Amino acid sequence: MILPGSTIGILGGGQLGRMLAVPARQLGYGVAVLAPSGDAPALGLADHAIRASFDDLDAARQLAQLSDVVTYEFENVPGAAARAVEEHAPLHPNAALLELTQDRNVEHAFLDRLGIPTAPGCAIHSAADLTAAVVRFGLPARIKSARGGYDGGGQLRITDAESLHAAHVKISLSSGAWRFEAEVPFECELSVVVARSASGELVPFAPFENEHLHGVLHLTRWPARASEGALGRALEVARAVAEAGGLVGVMCVELFVEGDDVRVNELAPRVHNSGHLTIEAAATSQFEQHIRAICGLPLGSPALRSGGAAMVNLLGASERRRVRLDGAAEALTLGARVHLYGKDRERPGRKMGHVTAVGSSGDEAVATALSATSSLRLVGA
Ligand code: AMP
Repeated sequence: MILPGSTIGILGGGQLGRMLAVPARQLGYGVAVLAPSGDAPALGLADHAIRASFDDLDAARQLAQLSDVVTYEFENVPGAAARAVEEHAPLHPNAALLELTQDRNVEHAFLDRLGIPTAPGCAIHSAADLTAAVVRFGLPARIKSARGGYDGGGQLRITDAESLHAAHVKISLSSGAWRFEAEVPFECELSVVVARSASGELVPFAPFENEHLHGVLHLTRWPARASEGALGRALEVARAVAEAGGLVGVMCVELFVEGDDVRVNELAPRVHNSGHLTIEAAATSQFEQHIRAICGLPLGSPALRSGGAAMVNLLGASERRRVRLDGAAEALTLGARVHLYGKDRERPGRKMGHVTAVGSSGDEAVATALSATSSLRLVGA
């Protein structure tokens, strides 16, 4: 057990790191953060701040030497940095699970081995592979860069001859691998955030229901409105992935749902945007659960404490510095909770904060969260 008073290292300084630092500090842990940019929301909550690139292996070793246990809040941390950390301190989730989820093709091979359904598709490395994949799986489809994609980035939708041509050009010009994925019909998207500790204790949150806009999460609703069969299957899949990956900490499994069937879209070996509403809505937040799991403390109850909860992301609209949030008074008066991540620089589509509401039902919570969000506006100072 890593006793309170010890230090937790975090690779990455974004909002996830910041929201991890809050319960870590509440439990009495020191926090060390390694982040490449000065505009990193977690740095302000860190006892030790290391500003360095993730490719700087000495900086990764320095973080590990300052820490009793290390975690990460961003899945594109280079495998070499993760392994450098592991020379000096335990890293949770482990570097092998991190590396597995960094490559969509490796991730799909892992899910195939477990017999977990995904969208039909294959790895592609050339324009000729793309032509063959279209013949084999049909259109509409997506090509997704195997590595480095995030929030729908590095993806192209192929529906017709014109987009197929654009995909051929993209693949011909790139040196990396891609995944070709047939588009699957779905009624809704779910995510399961599951916690596991080194002792094997495994505690999933009930599934969240997610709506995306332009590939980025817009709204999360809890409880999800899928069939009992799909909800049960989603939990089974999350448990199987956590066991097989030797998870210690929290991870997220994203799924497509059609009737009682689920298919995994992707895995994230970290706390997840869809779990932000657990801060207000659950008996234990995903962030506290992660800290407990990596420190060997008993896991908390994942129960939803009200009839329903909802979260809406606040995305940047323009290029601005020194951002302020207007309308918080109205949002708070409605009973919503407002989170602003403290990013100095706003950019279109950048996650700047979020709004959470709880209510007697999911519908009520969604209505409050949307109405509170409509009163909020990012402005320049
Ligand atoms: P991703 O970055 O892979 O999570 O994709 C972002 C969003 O695009 C997903 O949340 C889905 O809404 C949509 N999407 C991705 N892959 C597929 C697929 N194979 N079939 C249908 N929709 C998809």
